[in-house]
Amino acid sequence: MKDIATPGRTKEILEKHGFSFKKSLGQNFLIDPNILKNIIYHAGIDKKSGVIEIGPGIGALTEHIARAAGKVVAYEIDDRLLPVLEDTLSPYSNVKVIHQDILDVDLNAAIEEHFSDVDEVTVVANLPYYVTTPIIMKFLMGKVPIERMVIMMQHEVADRITAVPGTKAYGSLSIAIQYYMDAEVAMIVPRTVFMPQPNVESAVLRLSRKTEPPASVIDEEFLFKVARGSFVQRRKTILNNLQTSLPQGKAKKEAILAALSTAGIDPVRRGETLSIEEFANLSNALYEEFG
Ligand code: SAM
Repeated sequence: MKDIATPGRTKEILEKHGFSFKKSLGQNFLIDPNILKNIIYHAGIDKKSGVIEIGPGIGALTEHIARAAGKVVAYEIDDRLLPVLEDTLSPYSNVKVIHQDILDVDLNAAIEEHFSDVDEVTVVANLPYYVTTPIIMKFLMGKVPIERMVIMMQHEVADRITAVPGTKAYGSLSIAIQYYMDAEVAMIVPRTVFMPQPNVESAVLRLSRKTEPPASVIDEEFLFKVARGSFVQRRKTILNNLQTSLPQGKAKKEAILAALSTAGIDPVRRGETLSIEEFANLSNALYEEFG
């Protein structure tokens, strides 16, 4: 059986079903089997693995996952793709396609329902780029029991997620994701392997669950709020940004200074120099007054 992900077979499938791409749904389909093999390699899955896929498209990545994993559950928002997937994925009995917006899925319930018989659950996806961050955060903040996420996204977003303190790319997104997961760019992917080609370069990001969170925090959402507030104006000091972003921050300068002191953070530092542990200590110190 020829791979779905060749330019020829993809064109054939699209023509057969009279399918036209919707840009608003981030529809850029993979047409290079080598990239897919590489994604599967980085996903580290075997027949004991269950995989959640987001946005199967016409099934290019799904069939590679199906060959490697025990079971695949794929959520697709576009109802026009359902008959296409029924056709293209008919050789694979271990795939279940569900017509649903991933952001509406009760992920913990879905894992209980579909994956009670696998050793571990991994997310593998070529994500729709317009909604990359909300999807990742839904899995992480929802404490969904997954081991890994191996996901294609915009290169620039992958760089921000993996960034370390003191770099330009480091920000609240790096903190929110690295709080839960170890993050690394597994490969950089050129536009030419997609149909149609996106406007930006892509990358495959590998997120692996941390055994321990890097710090103990009173309230995770508050930590992320403090982190976001600390980067509102990157060139300003942490004190300045917190005064602007916290409720009544200007009037409560003394409380902010006290919290910075408790956390051992010089008020003239910039947010981009603080480690996740420092943000955690700071958010704990600010929590009583501002949480
Ligand atoms: N996996 C296919 C591939 O690699 O060729 C398609 C990837 S394409 C970048 C993204 C897919 O996600 C599209 O099929 C799109 O319709 C679907 N999609 C977009 N938003 C979605 C959402 N909120 N929930 C589920 N699927 C979504």
